[in-house]
Amino acid sequence: MNTKIQPKTSIVIFGATGDLAKRKLYPSIFNLYKKGQLAENFAVVGVARRPWSNETLRDTVKASLEHEPNRDVVEQFCQHFYYLSFEVTNKSTYHELKTLLDEVETIHKIPGNRIFYMSMAPEFFGTIAKNLKAEGVTDSGGWTRLVIEKPFGHDLESARALNQEIRQAFSEEEIYRIDHYLGKEMVQNIEVIRFANAIFEPLWNNKYISNIQITSSETLGVEERGGYYDTSGALRDMVQNHMLQMVSLLAMDPPIRLTPDEIRSEKIKVLRAIRPITEQDTSRYFVRGQYGPGVLNESEVPGYRSENNVNPHSKTETFVAGKILIDSHRWAGVPFYIRTGKRMLLKSTEIVIEFKGMPMNLYYSENQTQSNLLIIHVQPDEGLTLFLNGKKVGPAGGTTPVQLDYCNNCVDTTNTPEAYERLIYDCMLGDATNFTHWDEVELSWSFIDSISKAWEKSDKDLHFYESGSMGPDASMELLEKDGHQWWPITSESKEEEKRSRSNESFRY
Ligand code: NAD
Repeated sequence: MNTKIQPKTSIVIFGATGDLAKRKLYPSIFNLYKKGQLAENFAVVGVARRPWSNETLRDTVKASLEHEPNRDVVEQFCQHFYYLSFEVTNKSTYHELKTLLDEVETIHKIPGNRIFYMSMAPEFFGTIAKNLKAEGVTDSGGWTRLVIEKPFGHDLESARALNQEIRQAFSEEEIYRIDHYLGKEMVQNIEVIRFANAIFEPLWNNKYISNIQITSSETLGVEERGGYYDTSGALRDMVQNHMLQMVSLLAMDPPIRLTPDEIRSEKIKVLRAIRPITEQDTSRYFVRGQYGPGVLNESEVPGYRSENNVNPHSKTETFVAGKILIDSHRWAGVPFYIRTGKRMLLKSTEIVIEFKGMPMNLYYSENQTQSNLLIIHVQPDEGLTLFLNGKKVGPAGGTTPVQLDYCNNCVDTTNTPEAYERLIYDCMLGDATNFTHWDEVELSWSFIDSISKAWEKSDKDLHFYESGSMGPDASMELLEKDGHQWWPITSESKEEEKRSRSNESFRY
């Protein structure tokens, strides 16, 4: 992102009283303002159902910035916020919105550039987009862009219907589908690690890579989102978007230029090359699980079926592990293993690239070498680890694993932008590289749909796992069948060390 340009824009946040706005959007826009990436010529119009005033919204924004010591900047920032009480289906409120936008754009000297940020339940996205166009809110004299939160549909059919609705009002170039993983520092770093390092890119193929593993684990359960999650599950909530996006970034060919079109077109080719999984084959390639009760951080936690707003007989998966094959020259025969789940041992997103062994291992008889691994730590740690084999110190010789670590967020903790901050700024600049193109959404849903259809037909392969574990045994068996194993995620190894120090047995 070019951090020198100060875009002049209004941002309309639909769902301004909601959780996402308070936790992510207001702090991210504030950071842009504080760092000088946003000119004084900006305004935020918060829109939601509640009968709030400008002052109520400004107080809410101030509360979301309570950790900011410079209260004067917060005060100045809040003067750019306005509120409109709004009902999605009521056309007259769109006229009020248009009038309010015209007014605030005059006050803050904004040349009609408008971002419409959909931060509310997805069933409203299509109606809002159509009404914005029909009632003339998009006729602003500047550019207009639509930002859409996940989930983008529930399956291929509903995603297509939603896309058709919003395309009546906005062109593909004006639509910014958020996948906040694409805003994360280390996810963006995948491209640089691969395409700026001569020691990796020549090896980045089936000749040298044995398998790639992506883990995204959470310790939290469904919290307050039980009602939504029970109709969604981990496959739709995590795999269709975040996990497949990471697969495509790891597997794509080098783009000819670093432009949004070229990068997205390489990612789309990967998604097209993913081998479809038939309903009959689902259990060979994918494992699903649901958390039972257990102990996390020394507290007892309930099982999924006992959570608020969850059906006590629910078959919804809170864990997915899968093996993805990409039928291309580069990747033929290399499995991409993914796993994601709630209430797992640790919160972590990590990518492990396991390289193949040496063609003739001179040290094999001593069984001392381990695979070379490149580990990309996405969150909470950000960084890289490279495992090599070195000589054991001393006359006896032999090998010992050598670990080279680079901690990204130790170097600069203050300036690393949050994912939302980066994505909002990219949208203001009109850079859609880190947003999902419709073709990517369509291809991901068509891959996911056959798996979810197979799972809807029968629940006999739903595996239960203990909260605080790394998922069901079936997930380990998925890799063992291929002669592989999940490499413990780095923080998992730290946890293991801690446990063995306190003489507790380590539960995988
Ligand atoms: P929320 O339930 O906290 O807020 C919903 C907002 O929509 C509220 O401001 C509410 O007033 C408004 N609203 C609801 N019905 C309305 C109507 N008929 N007319 C006008 N306004 C109405 O939801 P949230 O957690 O903020 O999530 C918003 C969106 O972001 C959802 O699509 C969600 O899937 C997505 N999302 C949220 C998170 C998160 O961390 N909260 C993360 C990723 C994606």
